[in-house]
Amino acid sequence: MKEFFKSIRLPLIICSMAALLCGIAVGIFMGNMLKSAVEFHIEKTQADEKNTKTHSRIHFILCDHEIEVESNDLTGGGKIEIVGYCPLHYVVRYNGNNLSVYKRNTISLKEEYIMNIEFDAEYVDVKTKEELKRGIAFSSFDEINRYFENLSS
Ligand SMILES: [Zn+2]
Repeated sequence: MKEFFKSIRLPLIICSMAALLCGIAVGIFMGNMLKSAVEFHIEKTQADEKNTKTHSRIHFILCDHEIEVESNDLTGGGKIEIVGYCPLHYVVRYNGNNLSVYKRNTISLKEEYIMNIEFDAEYVDVKTKEELKRGIAFSSFDEINRYFENLSS
């Protein structure tokens, strides 16, 4: 009978020791997980800060669009505003002599000349002429064509 207890006690001790070791192992594991989660968070925050330093947000007031560009001498960093249309649009403008299409360059952020459109100012009313002098934004050449087809009809 004594032999029996002895033989059952040893596995019990081994079991409880194993359980204890498991507990320690889990504790260490969880601790490491927590630590790496914290480290990850710090790395991410630093990356975000770096991101805002090298990128600028530009808000174009006339179309209310916003784009993100890499910071340069022009944009500095942070957020700037430009009174005009963003690079997504073709802007048609009449300067009194020529009717031209412009599109904003995504790097220089300046409007660039694309082409002239044949245009006879005599055939359009004063209101349309004024609108064209301010510049009208279109999203495609098709849209521009449709606009002038409607004007001439
Ligand atoms: Zn836009």
